[in-house]
Amino acid sequence: MSSSRIAEHVRNIPRSGIRDFFEIVQSMKGVISLGIGEPDFVTPWHIREAAIYSLEKGKTGYTSNLGTPRLRRAIAKYVEQYFAVEYNPHDEIIVTVGVSEAIDLALRSLLNPGDEVLYHEPCYVSYSPSIQLAGGVPVAVSTHSKDEFSLKVSDLEKAVTPKTRVLMLNFPTNPTGAVMPLEELKKIAAFAVKHDLVVLTDEIYSELTYDELPHHSIAALPGMKERTLFLHGFSKAFAMTGWRIGYACGPADIIEAMMKIHQYSMLCASIMSQEAACEALERGQRSMERMKEEYRLRRNYIVSSLNEAGIPCHLPKGAFYVFPDIRATGLSSKDFSLQLLDAKKVAVVPGTAFGSSGEGYVRCSYAAGMDQIKLACERITEFVRDIPRTAS
Ligand code: PLP
Repeated sequence: MSSSRIAEHVRNIPRSGIRDFFEIVQSMKGVISLGIGEPDFVTPWHIREAAIYSLEKGKTGYTSNLGTPRLRRAIAKYVEQYFAVEYNPHDEIIVTVGVSEAIDLALRSLLNPGDEVLYHEPCYVSYSPSIQLAGGVPVAVSTHSKDEFSLKVSDLEKAVTPKTRVLMLNFPTNPTGAVMPLEELKKIAAFAVKHDLVVLTDEIYSELTYDELPHHSIAALPGMKERTLFLHGFSKAFAMTGWRIGYACGPADIIEAMMKIHQYSMLCASIMSQEAACEALERGQRSMERMKEEYRLRRNYIVSSLNEAGIPCHLPKGAFYVFPDIRATGLSSKDFSLQLLDAKKVAVVPGTAFGSSGEGYVRCSYAAGMDQIKLACERITEFVRDIPRTAS
């Protein structure tokens, strides 16, 4: 059938590179996957139980478009306690269907056609398409392994134009695990003020920083709250990907604009998920810390194994990904991933799925059981050792 019946701006968007790759993975048997950006843990029982109780009590209806008052109050308390930013639950917080919806609502609320959005790359696969679908122009700013993939203001200065309206940040970063030192974050805040930009900060991995490293949100820096949208959710730290629940906090005028789109497109997030999210925020810290400690051990193991195998890999300070440098193998990211899958049945994601600056790298997720990680590392070691024969 003719593809011309699909709107042009949708036709022009490529499918996610991860999705294409995982269709191949799913067609194979016995694959160890370090490919998925999803916790291998089931949502902690007390959170699931809270949702079950709410169903038993007959809570099955719509909620306020902004989300239940109880959840918005819990979010305000949590964000104040852990991120040191105060938001009014009445008009500065909206509950969304994951951070994914929050990103979409934010971009659609802020961008006029042709407005430019700066974001650091390699980055989460949805940023560039979401900007385009909102009528904006994505402008990627590359980050580099020599800087452990942190973002440099000098690179932002080279990319900014009079059309730039928004700066998107994601620290810790998917796919590199990068974090931003506070001093660097302050420079980025000054850059946003200088160029009068709205900042979208995707905080989805912010609980997952390791070795006692404190996380700083740009929203908490002086003068930033009024120009920042703080986007967060439950998928990663609380192992709640399937609940599809997240939130945005920010200036009341932007939240009101986001609410208008949300009320017509989504109406509200599911009430069961909102009940579960309250439990996560109010009593989920201990279970979250337990998962985090497990991630830390896995990270240490995978980083030392990859380095021993001759694949340079820095120790990422956050999220649950490592981003090793595979250039010494002589293979492209895609060939490395395809050949590893074919020869050793281990799935990793080519770095190019996260933008062209990911060439020369692959993403391995350590949100997989330790036994799987150990087996995968053994197989990667064998694969790398045999590459001259494999690649010829
Ligand atoms: N932002 C980043 C950086 C992500 O890595 C992901 C998922 O992998 C999302 C947002 C989507 O989060 P959610 O499940 O809350 O929609």
